[in-house]
Amino acid sequence: MIVPQLRDSLQARVVWGGNVVTVGGGAPVRIQSMTNTDTVDAIATAIQVKELALAGSEMVRITVNTPEAAQAVPYIREQLDRMGIAVPLVGDFHYNGHRLLSEFPDCAQALSKYRINPGNVGKGDKRDKQFGQMIEAAVKWDKAVRIGVNWGSLDQDLLASLMDKNSKRIEPWDAKQVMYEALILSALESAERAQEIGLAAEQIILSCKVSGVQDLISVYRALAQRSRYALHLGLTEAGMGTKGTVASTAALSVLLQDGIGDTIRVSLTPAPGEARTQEVVVASEILQSLGLRKFVPSVTACPGCGRTTSTTFQELTKQIDDFLREKMPVWRSAYPGVESLKVAVMGCIVNGPGESKHADIGISLPGTGEAPAAPVFIDGEKRMTLRGDAIAAEFQAVVEDYIRQRFAPSSQNT
Ligand code: SF4
Repeated sequence: MIVPQLRDSLQARVVWGGNVVTVGGGAPVRIQSMTNTDTVDAIATAIQVKELALAGSEMVRITVNTPEAAQAVPYIREQLDRMGIAVPLVGDFHYNGHRLLSEFPDCAQALSKYRINPGNVGKGDKRDKQFGQMIEAAVKWDKAVRIGVNWGSLDQDLLASLMDKNSKRIEPWDAKQVMYEALILSALESAERAQEIGLAAEQIILSCKVSGVQDLISVYRALAQRSRYALHLGLTEAGMGTKGTVASTAALSVLLQDGIGDTIRVSLTPAPGEARTQEVVVASEILQSLGLRKFVPSVTACPGCGRTTSTTFQELTKQIDDFLREKMPVWRSAYPGVESLKVAVMGCIVNGPGESKHADIGISLPGTGEAPAAPVFIDGEKRMTLRGDAIAAEFQAVVEDYIRQRFAPSSQNT
């Protein structure tokens, strides 16, 4: 597979204890996510951070919006450390971050990265001072910073000044072009200011998030050309379910294919009752589909058609997919390389045996009218045939046994 070459960005380090997450500069594209619990509820937040980390999130952002939330942060960190979850925490600050970071040093220290929105740090004279205070805290505690511009909270003074300049051009840009420029300038000028205060360029990550796919692509292509800072990529307010998933995938895939993006977040609105971890699943599928990372064994499954009229095929595909995902937190360390495994679950004889032979391990279920037998192919050879009501459980056992044989370190594989 030909994989995209990432652009030559600076490398930031987001650190907690011995866990160093490198971002940019040739590091793998990192996945991050954000909690939706009340940060003041430290236990609920720690539990959700743990779930997101186990799902594959390499950094987790939490809201730090009040003194009570800032007080909860070190406690959340402590709970995670007790559970053996070393994922770095990112503090999301708006409006009062300068105060919270100076009044709650334990919070400033427990976080591994600060997210600062230049549009939400204060107005007029206060803006520079308060932005400066947050950067000084990052320098003091040796933390990375994401300068995260968002067009829902764009610096209005900057936008007004660019609009004013634009009106004096002989050939004025259209309003959207001015908006793009305002987003990019807000990020770049803030980064420059942060460096003047003393933050290393390597500790700065930029984002310019918008909610339109084409807008995001235009903004990031321009941003990537104008700086070497590591870039955090994400379509903001992507929405819910299929719409949010498809819009995020469309936008991020185009940019990642261009080599743009050092860390990604998929901002999905969870459906009522849906797990927050879905955004991590989508992010990892995007990276895995593009060949940029490998997280879980891939399951090739045919879409089904009139040849497979029972639900057995869909049920088995779902069961094996869920089974592989559930096992990965343990398998990742027990069976190094297991994420490269390819499994095929096929619906009938038309493409079933052929596709199964291309996978490491595959099963071809009987289609409508076929004999009730499911041949299993391992490393391209037919090894057995499963029959009866327990095909799903038996196939899972065959997969697990194959993984043990192939991926267990040789000392265990006796
Ligand atoms: S493998 Fe069989 S069931 Fe699956 S889509 Fe092709 S013809 Fe239909």
